[in-house]
Order: sequence, then C-alpha cells, then structure tokens
Amino acid sequence: MKPRVLDILKTLMEFDTVSSESNMALIEYVRDLLLSHGIESLIVKDESGKKANLFAGTGPKDQPGVLLSGHTDVVPAAGQAWTVPAFAATVKDGRIYGRGSCDMKGFIALAIDALLDAAGHRLNRPLQLALSHDEEIGCVGVRRLLDVLHLAPVRPFLCVIGEPTNMQFVLGHKGKGSYRTYCRGLEAHSSLAPRSVNAIHVACDFIAALRESQRQLQHHGAQDTDYDVPYSTVHVGQIVGGKALNIVPNLCTLDFEVRNLPADDLDAFLEQMRERAEVIVREARKLSSVAAIEIETLNIYPGLDTHPSVEAVRFLKQFAAPGTGTSKVSFGTEGGLFKQRLDVPVVVCGPGSIEQAHKPDEFIEISQMDAGERFLQGLLGSLTA
Ligand SMILES: [Zn+2]
Repeated sequence: MKPRVLDILKTLMEFDTVSSESNMALIEYVRDLLLSHGIESLIVKDESGKKANLFAGTGPKDQPGVLLSGHTDVVPAAGQAWTVPAFAATVKDGRIYGRGSCDMKGFIALAIDALLDAAGHRLNRPLQLALSHDEEIGCVGVRRLLDVLHLAPVRPFLCVIGEPTNMQFVLGHKGKGSYRTYCRGLEAHSSLAPRSVNAIHVACDFIAALRESQRQLQHHGAQDTDYDVPYSTVHVGQIVGGKALNIVPNLCTLDFEVRNLPADDLDAFLEQMRERAEVIVREARKLSSVAAIEIETLNIYPGLDTHPSVEAVRFLKQFAAPGTGTSKVSFGTEGGLFKQRLDVPVVVCGPGSIEQAHKPDEFIEISQMDAGERFLQGLLGSLTA
C-alpha cells in the first residue's frame, strides 16, 4: 500500500462520521484534496445542510466512465468494547484497526488515490468517484446524488461499489422494504372486552397474515439458491401495544420487513398485505368503526442482480486477482439504487471482509488494501490513453 493511501485513510478515519453526525468535514477534506490535483467536485447537500454527497471525475466528460462509489458514514462505536481508539487508524500486526477501516473508508482511500493518479494522465474514459452519506440507515443519502446523476447527459458504463467483499465480485443481493403498521381498536374496560376491539388482537391477526405470506413466498415465490435463504423473507421485528391489563388497548404498532429477491415485487407484496388487512378490519368493524390497520413505508431499497456475463463484469475481471469468484450476499448495498436510477451495470467489490464490519476493533488486512490497490491501478491503466 502506498504511503499516500495510508495517509488518506488515517485522515478519513479520524472524522467521526457516524450516521447521526455531520460528514461535512470529511467531504470538505476530500473536495480540497481533489482540487489540489485540479479535480472539481460536485457537492450535493441534504435538506439540513449538515451532510453531503460528493461526485467528482477526471477524464473526458463526453465518454462513459467507471464510477467508484462508497459511503462515508459508519455505524456507532459507543457501547462496544473497543481496545483501540475507534476514530483513529491503529496499524499493527499487518492490519489497520478503527471504525470504518473495512466498511468502507479503506476502499474510499484507494479510490481517492486512484483519482489523484488519474489526474496526472490523459484518459480515454473518465474515472469518477461518488461518496454518499447515511447509507447505514437505509441507503438514504445517495438518493439525492442519484437524482442529479440521473440527469447527466453521459452515464458511467459501469459502477463499482467498494463494500468489503474480500475483493470478490458480488453481483447480487436482496432488496428490503421496512414498514410500520398501526393497528387501531376501541378502548374499553377489560370486563367488557368482547364488545370492544382489541388492537393487540387485530395486530395478531395481521401478523398471522404476514406469516401466511411468508409461507406463500417460500413455496410459490421466486427462488435463488445462490442465497442462504433462497426465497424472499418476511419478519416482524418489533411490536408495541397496550397500557394496562384491565384496559382493552386501542393501539398496537408493529414493524415488519421484507427482504425480497429482485424477482419478487415489493409493491405487489404490499398491495396483497393491504387487501388482507382490509379483510381483518372489515370483521373488526362489526364491533366498532374505529378499527383500522394502516401500513406506513419506512424505507425501501431495491435488490441487485447483475448478470455474470455482462460486458462490465468481463471488463473488470481483467484487473482482478486470478481465481476471483462471483457471488451473491445477504447484506444490502447502494448498488441496487445505482442500477435502478442510472441503469448501469453494478459490481460490488472492495477490500476487507464484512465479517469485520460493525464490530468493536473493526480492522482491514493491509494485504487486502494491497489487493484493492492492484485492482484499481489495473483499472486505471486500461482507462489511460
Ligand atoms: Zn458499508
């Protein structure tokens, strides 16, 4: 790994860019560093002005380029048992420790370094960088950037999302929809329970419907044996309801998620759940007109399913280490959104392992940084005129 890469990585890791915090200081650092090599950045802020995405590129603007993409936010370190400082890079035993080292400031440091190198060359196709905020809380930030890139006259011909994959090519992941459901009933003295509508009971009926939908997806939905669980999954993760045992509750909220194979349509699933909710509510309204089930969408990101034979994958394979495999993973990335909004082939490939992400004493092997550097140097070579 070049000393400059380590310098950049150290600086990136010293910014506390936990998703709840501002990432502006990091973005300004990257903007200034790129500008010192003559590369201009486009900064796309969120509505608060405290967070931003960055887009930059070097090379001919009228040609489709290679877009390297990463998220700048990290998960919190508070409450975890760290033995090294979380927001600093500690180099020891052939590893770099610290929050974000593998997820995914290591890749960002390599991508920035590649861009700085690229600025010194004549390119026949551009090399581009996209940095986002708020990925860890549901791929929230990158959407505004994609709104802008979507309108650009020339789109990239491929996009590399540098999430930690041990430099393997990940071509697919499931999408995810998360939803909050408000089940409403009629409050009453519990001795009169059968004459009222118990919101928790309504919620139980709705959960039964969700579980039935899981059975249907398992047996009649799309199947993809590349995944550990080869079908779309439905799960209730949280339920809150009731005030006291002697009160018939009038509200119960439950949060559920669907992790869908790209072939299973989330909108169709939700429509089906609304129909089932209607049946439950129709029954409950025989007792009270206040009975209701309202489903609110909290977040959706699409799945990714890049075909291994597409030109972009074959092109990238030239720069990968021999024996680099393709696979699908259970975790989500921004890749599905890049594919959906820009209609560009997406490959998820970056240094480090997801096994080390989100944990105390997160680290990246220096050998992985070296592998990432070789990959990006090879890629850059192919873009050089
Ligand atoms: Zn990540």
